[in-house]
Amino acid sequence: MEQLKSRNEVEEKYTWDLSDLFVSDEAFESAVENVRPEIKAFSEKYSGSLSDAKTAIEAIEYYKDLTESLVPIGAYANLRMASDQGDASAQRLSGLASNIGTYYSSETSFLTSELLQKDASFLEDIKSESSEFESFVDELLKHKPYQLDANVEKALASYSTVFEGPYSLYQKTKLLDIDFGTFSANGEEIPLSYLAFEGELEGHENAEIRRNAFRAFSDKLGQYQHTTAATYDLQLKQEKTTADLRGFDSVFDYLLHRQDVDQSLYNRQIDMIMSDLAPHMRRYAKLLKRVHGLDEMKYEDLKISLDPSSEPEISIEESRKYINDALAIMGDDYINMVNRAYDERWIDFVKNKGKSTGAFCSSPYGSHPFILISWTSLMTEVFVLAHELGHAGHFYNANRSQNVFDSRSSMYFVEAPSTMNEMLMANHLLENSDDPKFKRWVISSIISRTYYHNCVTHLLEAAYQREVYKKVDQNESVSAPVLNQLKREVIEQFWGDDVSITEGAELTWMRQPHYYMGLYPYTYSAGLTIATAMSKRVMNEGQAAVDDWLKVLNAGGTKDPVELARMGGVDITTEQPLRDTIDYIGELVDQLEKLTEEIEG
Ligand SMILES: [Zn+2]
Repeated sequence: MEQLKSRNEVEEKYTWDLSDLFVSDEAFESAVENVRPEIKAFSEKYSGSLSDAKTAIEAIEYYKDLTESLVPIGAYANLRMASDQGDASAQRLSGLASNIGTYYSSETSFLTSELLQKDASFLEDIKSESSEFESFVDELLKHKPYQLDANVEKALASYSTVFEGPYSLYQKTKLLDIDFGTFSANGEEIPLSYLAFEGELEGHENAEIRRNAFRAFSDKLGQYQHTTAATYDLQLKQEKTTADLRGFDSVFDYLLHRQDVDQSLYNRQIDMIMSDLAPHMRRYAKLLKRVHGLDEMKYEDLKISLDPSSEPEISIEESRKYINDALAIMGDDYINMVNRAYDERWIDFVKNKGKSTGAFCSSPYGSHPFILISWTSLMTEVFVLAHELGHAGHFYNANRSQNVFDSRSSMYFVEAPSTMNEMLMANHLLENSDDPKFKRWVISSIISRTYYHNCVTHLLEAAYQREVYKKVDQNESVSAPVLNQLKREVIEQFWGDDVSITEGAELTWMRQPHYYMGLYPYTYSAGLTIATAMSKRVMNEGQAAVDDWLKVLNAGGTKDPVELARMGGVDITTEQPLRDTIDYIGELVDQLEKLTEEIEG
């Protein structure tokens, strides 16, 4: 097994090129220095002086420019850190970005406060005199009931770096302090890290390697559980306090308010999947057990693929053709973006020490998207890449069509365009193969990656998170034993007697940064529900459905999730799309069972 390289040893052509944001760290630093007096000038000019709609529009215009100049600063610092958390100069830049971000928030907070003190006709005047800021004003009005006194808002904004503290502490413990060392299996010493475990070892086809890796990984996690739980508890306390201060009935209402959805959509997603998807996934677990000849199906066996030998290897260059072919239906403009992503180094493919785990896409307004992935040369990476390019295609379009305030859609919708691309990739691969083994590999990929990842892994996080927030709403604190128990209960409820839940599985809550991003985990299955319905429409209706979908992508954050889905012809106010999605997963498991019989003949 390979030792991870340092960042300075990797092949440059497979790293992202951040010079589109800033040509150098020095250029970044001068941008930070230059924007500070601009922010100061803004508050000096407009604080206390929003006498009429015309001046208010000027102020919003200025504020828009400031916001746009802060975007690349934040993005550059984050991306530098994401490529190597241990890089001292990246840490320094990150500190600078965070400080200027705090200064910006606190110096500009008067704008919202003062606008919301005006009467309704004043705000109506802004809307009628500047159609560009209609959504901006509507968004303000939505927050009006929860707005605090101007001085309190300013004080809270000044603490924004402190409020980001728990997330930053979590990342430091996870990516810098924990040293997983090595573990032994089959008489070999194998290096262990987050990247190695999540990238390869947890799905390794050799049971001894996989199970010993899990043991060593969770033993090491266990040594950090109390620090991590205390860090998380701080995050929860902060969210609960904010919810209370702002007058929300519960922490759920506070967190969902930001997503423009109500509790019914949230709870439906968790309840229905826990009860109705579980039987299908247990069938899938049984199939894995049979095919791999395991005497017992353990928690740490769930990530194995049904037939690893049928998974082709793929190079970065080869992936482009698959992606191009699968996403061609989205049109030339979309494919042009995909090719630019490869040609202009928007993607960071390499593996190195200190790099963030998983994959993500960051789409700074005014620039182009950047994608982080750690390429393993397995076919499954084309799904990961198609997914991230889905985020890219979303914001590439939204950023071009909307102003900086209106480009981000609700978190509820964010995973729809990405998972939509996974569906397009799967459909493309299935259409172009007659080989039962490859077909079975594709279907098992859709299940084990797309649906497992979004509707099981993240959904179990969501179900656990809901239990955590119920405690928070009752003013309880959480500790490692409490979190372990909640996590274990959720896992056991979902898998029943069909999977034995090994000791260490309860620590899975420690692995996920999503818990520092509000009610994020459940949105994966919500997005995929929309994507499943949408990809069916594309398969059945072709161009008309693609056109609708492109309009949805362009709409950015100007519509709430219910409206966005409706623009795509999907009604998420009913349970039908989720019901159809669960049925579809059931059909996929049926097909896997059938193909397996055919292959085993
Ligand atoms: Zn995603």
